[in-house]
Amino acid sequence: MDFLRPQTWADALAAAADRPDVVPVQGGTDVMVEMNFDLHRPTALLDLNPITELTTWEENPDGSLRVGAGMPYVRIIAELGDRLPGIAQAARTVGSPQIRNRGTVGGNLGGASPAGDLHAPLLACGAIVEAESAARGTRMIPADQFYVGVKRHCLEPDELIRAFHVPPATGPQYFSKVGTRNAMVIAVCSFSLALFPAERRVGTGIGSAAPTPRRATAAEEFLAAELDWDGTLDDAVARRFGDLVREAASPIDDVRGTADYRRHALAVMARRTLAWSWRDHRNNGEAA
Ligand SMILES: Cc1cc2nc3c(=O)[nH]c(=O)nc-3n(C[C@H](O)[C@H](O)[C@H](O)COP(=O)(O)OP(=O)(O)OC[C@H]3O[C@@H](n4cnc5c(N)ncnc54)[C@H](O)[C@@H]3O)c2cc1C
Repeated sequence: MDFLRPQTWADALAAAADRPDVVPVQGGTDVMVEMNFDLHRPTALLDLNPITELTTWEENPDGSLRVGAGMPYVRIIAELGDRLPGIAQAARTVGSPQIRNRGTVGGNLGGASPAGDLHAPLLACGAIVEAESAARGTRMIPADQFYVGVKRHCLEPDELIRAFHVPPATGPQYFSKVGTRNAMVIAVCSFSLALFPAERRVGTGIGSAAPTPRRATAAEEFLAAELDWDGTLDDAVARRFGDLVREAASPIDDVRGTADYRRHALAVMARRTLAWSWRDHRNNGEAA
């Protein structure tokens, strides 16, 4: 096996172009586990760790945040938790402290597992994935176009994820995950909600309850239209929102849970995250 260790982003793109067989590795918390279990034996690894720009973040001129693909979860929680509360909540549920030290959002995106915890808040917040190739340059991919199948994303073999872009929260954001225990657990299913009160807009993300992470767009449209943004939360609206989120899922029965349980849990998580968000919205109009 070849081990490629480019020192610059340009060299990494050149290596990905030269070797379509290469497997990028950042934290290695997915790649190395698969190799250790002999599930996958790449012919070449592309170690992105020397490229320090991948572990930085900055504010774009339009106020949105550009977060490097290699930012580990612990730093997202510590440095961006106030501006990206939904993403930070999901990051806090990933694995153990060791995994959160090494694991990255870029790696979660690269794996594109329907059960990856970061996908739901990335969808709810309207994140955009910045991908690049030596041949075609930069491509900005909205998160809801990024996932194309079970553990499959829309990247070409020569493309790498450089960063993700996301607006800072302008309202409450929540992430909720059901697992067989409280920590170190793959989601049975997960849900994320983001409210954008100034725009009277709602964002959602469903995890682990369909072949790909997905939004519940009918639920978003219903809630945005039916919420009395300056008044109280109507129980019937919350219930219908939960029902629409449940209907947006297409889960399967597997070792972690049944399809029926996942649908039920999603409706509960949708109503709960809405209640939490509404409490924050009415209390101070700010994200929790
Ligand atoms: C014990 C344990 C517990 C875990 N718990 C959770 C959990 O609770 N929730 C959860 O979501 N995940 C969990 N994971 C899975 C894993 O930690 C996460 O998916 C993590 O985000 C992977 O990030 P990484 O940087 O380690 O990725 P890597 O292992 O380095 O890479 C993962 C995938 O992304 C690709 N990739 C990496 N960087 C790029 C890039 N810049 N461009 C293109 N492709 C790229 C790789 O080729 C690979 O396919 C767990 C793993 C372990 C071992």
